[in-house]
Amino acid sequence: MARREEGKIVEMENTELPPRESMDYDVVIVGAGPAGLAAAIRLKQLDENLSVVVIEKGSEPGAHILSGAVIDPVGLDKLLPGWRDDPEHPIQTQVTADDIFLLTEKGAIRLPHFINPKLMNNHGNFVGSLGNVVRYLAQKAEGLGVEIYPGFAGAEILHGEKGEVLGVATGDMGVAKDGHIKDSFTRGMELRGKYTLFAEGARGSLTKQLLAKFGLDEKCQPQKFGIGLKELWRIPKEKHRAGLVQHTFGWPLEPSVGGGSFLYHFDEDLVSIGFVIHLNYDDPTLSPFDEFQRFKSHPLIAAQLEGGERISYGARALTEGGWQSVPKLVFPGGALIGCAAGFMNLPRVKGSHNAVLSGILAAEHVEKALKAERAHDELSSYDDAWRASEIGRDLKPVRNVKPLLSKFGLYGGLLLGGFDMWTNELFGFSLFGTLGHGKPDYAAMKPLSEVTPKVYGKLSAKTVFDKLSSVFVSNTNHEEDQPAHLKLTDPAVPIRDNLPRYGEPARLYCPAGVYEVVYADETAKTDPRFVINAQNCVHCKTCDIKDPAQNITWVPPEGGGGPNYPNM
Ligand SMILES: Cc1cc2nc3c(=O)[nH]c(=O)nc-3n(C[C@H](O)[C@H](O)[C@H](O)COP(=O)(O)OP(=O)(O)OC[C@H]3O[C@@H](n4cnc5c(N)ncnc54)[C@H](O)[C@@H]3O)c2cc1C
Ligand code: SF4
Repeated sequence: MARREEGKIVEMENTELPPRESMDYDVVIVGAGPAGLAAAIRLKQLDENLSVVVIEKGSEPGAHILSGAVIDPVGLDKLLPGWRDDPEHPIQTQVTADDIFLLTEKGAIRLPHFINPKLMNNHGNFVGSLGNVVRYLAQKAEGLGVEIYPGFAGAEILHGEKGEVLGVATGDMGVAKDGHIKDSFTRGMELRGKYTLFAEGARGSLTKQLLAKFGLDEKCQPQKFGIGLKELWRIPKEKHRAGLVQHTFGWPLEPSVGGGSFLYHFDEDLVSIGFVIHLNYDDPTLSPFDEFQRFKSHPLIAAQLEGGERISYGARALTEGGWQSVPKLVFPGGALIGCAAGFMNLPRVKGSHNAVLSGILAAEHVEKALKAERAHDELSSYDDAWRASEIGRDLKPVRNVKPLLSKFGLYGGLLLGGFDMWTNELFGFSLFGTLGHGKPDYAAMKPLSEVTPKVYGKLSAKTVFDKLSSVFVSNTNHEEDQPAHLKLTDPAVPIRDNLPRYGEPARLYCPAGVYEVVYADETAKTDPRFVINAQNCVHCKTCDIKDPAQNITWVPPEGGGGPNYPNM
């Protein structure tokens, strides 16, 4: 850090900064998503005297939550058994119809239900906003005495002398773009816990450090990811079919690119529409944002949205590696829960139920350890328990779908993946055993010279938008005068390596227009410069995952910065 003296920036020693205040808890939880809040609630249900704190980088719980969402209630039923009778509960719409279509450019073929194994059935599930579920869980947690601090990002992991995790520090506030401390400077807080649970969701920034420090992912398959883009629409009531769940695959993606869409009707007139693209795509000229816009121009989709109003937009990475990519979950002093651990079920497009279940499971093991007066050691029993739990039973039967899609593309992958889910369901085994995922997503990118570049023309449909107006409706807001939270390990890489080799794909995979290559002369393409519009970032984490040089590290900006999703 630095201070300004007579107009000059003077580097400061760490010891010159005011010391951080510290607070002690039994359990510190990083991230107020379904996993973190479920863990907090279960801890207090088990022992009301435990002190539990949850920090959340969003301005309020739910502000950074983006999901589908069709919610399997198995987690909520276990956590809050009376929730269905609570008139305040936020998921009032039950699934009434469950359609899957194969799209062609102008047509749509509805697939018969009987080809789907039972586990893919959505009847009995609820449709709603996961952000609102999280707000509901936060109220329940606070009612039980959990301290929740929104607007505070976990920025640093605190380690003891033997490397054990002692808690986390929240980020300093009031540091200027050039690194000097401003008058508003406030030192971060140290939150120290006997155990710390990391519930940051997919590609957590502290989780990434834990994986590296403790080698947690050395013995599993690489984690795989997708990017999910979503809009929330209010449509005319006469078109609305509360409880309709519709998925598509096929157009506009080429068969070699994994992904598909979701469209869920809920409440009185709301529709969640989204598109997921698997991040192991190899074409550097593919733009997930533009594919999503093309998808919305399809007659089957546009007909449902036309006459409606778009309320919100956002994007978020999701984990896709499943059973074989779940890392070791524990290390001295803490554990990973929810999508930080990778508990997403890809074919079901669901992870929130496992997030809740893993929060419950971890909490039960933490509480036992605390009762035995343990602290800062490994919660091995949690790691041993998950595969035999409901979470393992959910993930194991579908473990080969993603590798089969990656290997055989859309048609071969769906056929073989479907067959594999059936043999698992009927006979409890897979002919394939457990398949590997191969390389990590960033390594899949081909150089420009090996692809035919995609050109995205202008679309005229009323359901289509550009990136900037989309970011606008995500209500994204960051303090402008702060250090960029997208760190380049080597600032030369984007222009020196990525631009000639890949056309700098960050311009395209970022769903918020954060990355640009600008030229001194746009026509002659001279003097390219890499520009980072960090204030637009919707915290999806795709750049941290997909940059082919692995040169971008996403770190939390000042707490409270980022999107302010209403009910995504
Ligand atoms: C497009 C899309 C569609 C989906 N559809 C469905 C669906 O239909 N049904 C379903 O069940 N699941 C769905 N999922 C998956 C589901 O959203 C996740 O499984 C679930 O949100 C995981 O919960 P979590 O608590 O682990 O993480 P998250 O929900 O990601 O919550 C993590 C929280 O931690 C906060 N955080 C992160 N880092 C820090 C930090 N360092 N300091 C402080 N706070 C931090 C975040 O701001 C966030 O609030 C979907 C996901 C996506 C992206
Ligand atoms: S900068 Fe990175 S994390 Fe932010 S929106 Fe773009 S891709 Fe997502």
